[in-house]
Amino acid sequence: MIKFLPLGGADEIGANCYYLNIAGTGIILDCGMHPQKTGLNSLPQFSLIENLPVDYALISHAHQDHLMSLPFLVKKHPYIRIITSRQTRELAELTLHNSVSIMQKELERDNSFQAYTHEEIDLLSQTIDFKPTKDVFEIESFKHKSSEPIKVSFHDAGHILGSVGILIEHNGKNIFYTGDINLTNQTLLKGCELPKQKVDTLILECTYGATDSASILSWTKEAERFAAEANKILNQGGSILIPVFALGKMQEILSTIWKLMERNKLTATDIYTGGIGTKINRLYDANRYLVNMIDTEFQLKSISFKNLNDVENSEEFFKYPCIVVASSGMMIEGTASFKLAKSWLKQKNSGIFIVGYMDESTPGNKIANAVKGGKIKLTEFSQEEIVKCSIEKFRFSAHSKREELIEIVRKLKPKKIILVHGGEDAISWVGNQILKELKGVKVFQAELGKEIEI
Ligand SMILES: [Zn+2]
Repeated sequence: MIKFLPLGGADEIGANCYYLNIAGTGIILDCGMHPQKTGLNSLPQFSLIENLPVDYALISHAHQDHLMSLPFLVKKHPYIRIITSRQTRELAELTLHNSVSIMQKELERDNSFQAYTHEEIDLLSQTIDFKPTKDVFEIESFKHKSSEPIKVSFHDAGHILGSVGILIEHNGKNIFYTGDINLTNQTLLKGCELPKQKVDTLILECTYGATDSASILSWTKEAERFAAEANKILNQGGSILIPVFALGKMQEILSTIWKLMERNKLTATDIYTGGIGTKINRLYDANRYLVNMIDTEFQLKSISFKNLNDVENSEEFFKYPCIVVASSGMMIEGTASFKLAKSWLKQKNSGIFIVGYMDESTPGNKIANAVKGGKIKLTEFSQEEIVKCSIEKFRFSAHSKREELIEIVRKLKPKKIILVHGGEDAISWVGNQILKELKGVKVFQAELGKEIEI
């Protein structure tokens, strides 16, 4: 008997966390934190598994919404064994340490939980075990010995450095959890490698389920469009601000810009970046032979950037044309990209280029939907102002398009599919499409706290 119970992120892009009970062994798939919520509300609902066995946590990748609640899970379940890829382990150490100070600041406003400390992260990082992709390893609960072993393997998900899909085999039944998965190449990373083993139950992410794929071009095509729009701004003496996630999108966008400049498709200008993203760049470089990179010879350190944090007055960015790649991706209040956006909005020759996913209600989403000459109010308490700069939107996706999600289903031929990690529209598009195209498949819509028997 296998039971699946969502603890978060089931029907939204939230705190992804799913509980599997396989013949008495408790396995947590991902342990994310809600990017828009604070305090206790940002955590998965661990209370749902209070009296259930919790033996393992398997982590698909190091993005906040898949990893960041891990220290809280470990506090509740100190004997849990955590296994992920080598790169996710390295990234987790970096990003969890980075989140300590962010969280402490947050707690000044909301003290519904206790933050974790750098010492706790050091201890936690040491206990994270890692496995290479495709290696099959066995896991077993100490208390509930199962007669049949539980076998696990990781499969490159093509989403960010170290991202994997997780295959679990038990008693002739195979379950595959995609995590965040990307079927096609980005600039640095190759698309995913699906497992060769049969898959009976597929737990499928649906991030782009509600997005018309016609609006998502290939990376190469989108890069050409990006270069054309960027040249317009730079050639009129303006500067470009690009908000990005520090993990994944920053590395892909920096290398895209650099390669365009190298091929003389994009006007050569200063590139500014900074923050934790530059440390993540080093991990991308260090792991380039270990993961599926398109060009293993290319290193991010070969790009000559200037440090964003060395610039004291943002007026400096407008003296000469330049490109600034700054986190956070959704321009969350208080972050570098949010602060810079305020200066950019006042500049008529400059532009803000949106390159990725924006959650509703974020300042980034407001900017993405603004037009030059229109009015904008970035946060509840900020003044309404006129948008003087240009706003251009691009889709450099690190997730599969919705048709590609269906392609994944077609390739893996599962009998049961559990749809997770997407809004209502996204889940219903993917669900309906599967039912229309594939006969005899059972589709479940994951719901927080609602158990599904697999
Ligand atoms: Zn992700």
